[in-house]
Amino acid sequence: MKRLIRFAAVLLAAASIIFPAGCDSGAPPIDLSNSGPQVDTNATFPAGSTMQRLHDTGKITIGTKFDQPLFGLKNPITGRPEGFDAEMGKLIAAKLGIPADRIEWVETVSANREPFLQQGRVDAVIATYTINDKRKQIIDFAGPYYIAGQSLMVRAGNPAEIASPDDLVGKSVCAVEGSASSTNMRNRVPAAHVVLFDSYSKCAEALKNGQVVAMTTDNTILGGLRSLDESAFELIPGTFTEEPYGIGIAQGRADLVEFIDEALRTAFTDGTWSAAWDRTAGRVLGAAPTPPDLESY
Ligand code: GLU
Repeated sequence: MKRLIRFAAVLLAAASIIFPAGCDSGAPPIDLSNSGPQVDTNATFPAGSTMQRLHDTGKITIGTKFDQPLFGLKNPITGRPEGFDAEMGKLIAAKLGIPADRIEWVETVSANREPFLQQGRVDAVIATYTINDKRKQIIDFAGPYYIAGQSLMVRAGNPAEIASPDDLVGKSVCAVEGSASSTNMRNRVPAAHVVLFDSYSKCAEALKNGQVVAMTTDNTILGGLRSLDESAFELIPGTFTEEPYGIGIAQGRADLVEFIDEALRTAFTDGTWSAAWDRTAGRVLGAAPTPPDLESY
C-alpha cells in the first residue's frame, strides 16, 4: 500500500512538471516536441553558401533559453526547448531541409549569446534577443520577428507599491547579467539597486523570496514566468522600452541573414508565424500581433 502511495505521489509530481499550474486553464497541453512546418526536402542553395553547408551537414546548432516559459523552456521528458523561439528555430531549419529532431539545441543565457556566436559554438541564437546597436557591432541579426517591451513584475499584492520604474529609487530590482533590460534599468533609474543573476528563473526566485522588490525584463518573459505561478506574482501594466527580437548570426554570414529574413517574410504572410505564436506564447499573451517590419542593414 505504502509503495502504491509513493508511486502515486511520484506520478503527481511528474504531472505537475509536465502540466504546470496555470499553464492553460484546463486545456490539454500541446506536445511541441516535434511540431513545426513541413521540411523542405527539395531545398537547393548556391554552391559554397552557408545554407548549403548547413543543408549538407543535415544539422544546425541553435542557442536558446531553457528556462523561459512561452519562448524557450526545456521539456523535462524530451530534453528539448519549447516555445515561440524554438518554433522560429524549427521554421528556419525546415527551410534548410533540416528536420526538427536534427536541431542541436544549446542553452544560452543572456550574457553568453554574443560569445557563443563569435566562437562558432552555435549557428544562430534565437533567445528573446534584442537587436541593438551595441550588439550589431560584433554580430549580425536577421529579423525582427517580434517586438517586445520592457516591464516590471512584483510580488502578488505589490507590497512595495511599485507603479513605474521611477518608484525603484533606492530599492532592489532584479535583472539578468548581459541583458538589455539591466542596461535600460540602470539608464532609466540610476539610483535603483540592480541585483544581477544569470537567468530569469533565478530572478523570479529572488523576487518570490523577498530579496528584491521587483524584477525587470521584457513583458513576454515576465508574462511567461507569471503563468507558472500566478498566485505569486503581479505584472505592472505598461512597457517602457521597445525590444525588437532578432536572430543572432556571426558576422561574415550575410547570406544566412538574408535567407532567414526571406524565411521570416514568407512565414509572416503564409500564416506559419502566427500559428507558431498561437500554439506557444499566444496561449498566455493573447492573439498574435501584426508581424513587424523586417530590418535590413
Ligand atoms: N530582450 C532583452 C535582451 O536581449 C532581455 C531578454 C533577455 O535577456 O533575453 O537582452
